[in-house]
This record gives sequence, structure tokens and C-alpha cells, in this order.
Amino acid sequence: MIILVVNAGSSSLKYQLIDMADESMLAKGNCDRIGIDGHISHKTSDGRGFEADMAFPTHTEAFMALVDALTKGDAKVIDSMDEISAVGHRIVQGADVFDKSVLVTDEVIDKIDELRELAPVHNHAHALALRACKSVIPDSVPQVVVFDTAFHQTMPPKAYMFGLPYEDYETLHVRKYGFHGTSHRFVSAALAEAMGRDIKDLKIVSCHLGNGSSITAVDGGKSVDTSMGFTPLDGVVMGTRTGSVDPSAVTFVADKHHFTPSEMSEYMNKKSGFLGVSGVGSDNRDVQEASLHGNERAKLVSDMLTYEIQKYIGSYAAAMNGLDAILFTGGIGENSWEVRESVCRNMDFFGIKIDEELNRTIRGKLTKLSTPESKVEVWIVPTNEELLIARDTLALISQ
Ligand code: AMP
Repeated sequence: MIILVVNAGSSSLKYQLIDMADESMLAKGNCDRIGIDGHISHKTSDGRGFEADMAFPTHTEAFMALVDALTKGDAKVIDSMDEISAVGHRIVQGADVFDKSVLVTDEVIDKIDELRELAPVHNHAHALALRACKSVIPDSVPQVVVFDTAFHQTMPPKAYMFGLPYEDYETLHVRKYGFHGTSHRFVSAALAEAMGRDIKDLKIVSCHLGNGSSITAVDGGKSVDTSMGFTPLDGVVMGTRTGSVDPSAVTFVADKHHFTPSEMSEYMNKKSGFLGVSGVGSDNRDVQEASLHGNERAKLVSDMLTYEIQKYIGSYAAAMNGLDAILFTGGIGENSWEVRESVCRNMDFFGIKIDEELNRTIRGKLTKLSTPESKVEVWIVPTNEELLIARDTLALISQ
């Protein structure tokens, strides 16, 4: 059974074709610059591929190019779209409307579009892509939507409420939603399996650290708290995003710079974080490199990141009244031994001890880093959101 996984943004459409017989990736690619001009890059698992400029005025043309890339030419992997059993889509914001993955209907697409106010950059693009996909891919191929927020719908009200007047929660739906849920769900389940334990018996802090980062407390397989909030801006310092800031600092800066709300949002989402503090760039590798060469501000933002992660680990251990394991995932979590080492240092109070030699040599592989005497297990668990989307899609169409 073959499943197409789609991750649509406002100007891009990333895709993967997955063979569920062995959960292997057959091909992947990206249709980029939609609405601007258009570019496709396509690669197969056996090393074929191509890149081309083509016109993508809307997501529909991008879907047509994706279908052609999969079914025609030197880098095709199937003969026709009839070989695809279903399409699974990643959706950023499901709010409190969607607490699990669902089959796509016109009503579901309309609801995703209605939630656009809560995720202005993403949800409308998802709705456009879903409608475009329906116009290009035959009706006989079912579609499923998988939400980044759904895993966090198990948070209790005390974790997701803000101390704002209650009416604004009721009318404006202002609350913590949390993001990266697909990743946190995938890696926490993979960790339980690797530990040979039932996830129901485990208290895990899952650290998804990448361009965007979030930390989640997973108790008994359920998200009970998470660091991102109403939007993916909250939590730890990120590539270009602030992470948590005293809201009074936000109104103060907006006032001083005469920023409109959208200018302030741009400032906090695009010009802050690693980039804003270090002045070097948003990429962790560049920041680490500069820090090694004595750049004080680069070192400062690296220290801020690891300190904030340590504080989340401590507070989530308190929230769960225990801690069995910490996992690292995402581009930084899987690859940066420096960040993992700094986070796990000076955590003796929690009985955390990692094999530093091993940590320095391992990248991107499922690995237990903690020593046998460590009271808390520490792991690298590579994430695979596309695979989880494909698994959810398969489960829904098999019902
Ligand atoms: P992601 O958003 O999950 O793709 O992660 C992107 C982040 O991972 C960027 O900040 C990269 O600098 C970081 N990253 C990727 N590879 C490495 C590496 N080998 N060492 C340190 N950071 C890395």
C-alpha cells in the first residue's frame, strides 16, 4: 500500500511517497515558490531525480507537477496515481476542534480554513492545498489530515489556560495549543519501544530542537504540558523566534519603535532568537561556529538555549512528579552533541548522567546516551513526522 504525504505551506508543497509494506520512502520532493514563479526538486530513494523551474501560479499547478514527477519521466516511481491508496496532509492548527486525525470532507476543509485566524501563515495555505489536491487527485483516493496540535489536546485546563479574562478564552479561543505534536507523539512512542517499556508507565520530557523548538511533558503517553503556546512563538529561544518574553517588554518595544501588531509579530518571529541575539544568523551551526571563535553574543544565545531547556526539564519533572527519560530530536537535538552535553551537565540533582564520549560521536541515530547508573535515561530519537502521518492515514482508511 502506497501513501502520499503532503506538507503544504503558503508557497511550498513538500511531499513524500511511502510504501507502507516496509515503511520505506520511495520518493520525496518540494514544489517551491508557488504564487511567485515555481521550482520543483524531486528525488527517488535509489538516487534518481531532477530539478526544474516551472510556473506554479497556485497549489493546483504544483500538485500537477508532483503527479507528473511521480508517474512520468526518468525519476518516476509509480505508473499511475491509481497505485496510491491515500494522501495524508500535515496541518498546523486544529485548535480544540480536532483532537485526532480525520478523513477529509468539504466541511473539514472549511473548518481548517476557518481556523486561519489562529495560524495565519499556515491554515489558509493548507485549505488551498487540500482543495487543489482534490481537484487533481481522483475522488477514489481518500485524504486524511493530521494536526500538529492534536497530540496536545490532552493537556489539562490548568496547563493550557492563560491568566487573561476568561471571556477572551471563550470568545477569541486564546489558550495554549502547542505544536510539533506529530513529532512528540512519534518520538515518545519510539522511545518507549526502544526502552522496552509500556508508554503508559513512562514520564518523558521530549525535546524537539530545530529551527523551531518545543519541549513536551509526556506522562503515560499523553501530552500534559508543552512549551509552545497559542502560536509556535512561545517557549525556548529559537532560530529567529524569541521564545517566552515578558508581555510588558513586547508592549514597551512596540511603543518605542511605533510598531503595528503585525510589525511586532514580524520582529518577534523573524528577527529575534539566535539571529537577533547573536547577530550571526539563525542556523545553530553558524552560531556554534561563531561561539567557538570567541563571539560572545553567539555563546550567550547558546547558553540561553541550554539553560531554558534545563528549566523546562526541571519544571516538567515537577509537573509530572517524576521523570524516567529525556529524549532529544529535531535537527539540533539529533545532531548537536554540544547542546545535548550542555543540557545534561549540572543535572546531578536529577541523577542525570550521560556517556560524554558516546554523545560526542553519535548523530541522528536512535541511541541511549545515559550511563547505566543514571537515574533518568537520556536518548536521541530521530523524528519522522511523515511516517506518522502515513501511519495515521493508513489506520483511518483501514477502518
Ligand atoms: P530542523 O528545523 O529540525 O531541520 O533543524 C534545523 C537546525 O538544526 C538548524 O539550526 C541547524 O543548524 C541544526 N543542525 C543541523 N545539523 C546540525 C549539526 N550537525 N550540528 C549542529 N546543529 C545542526
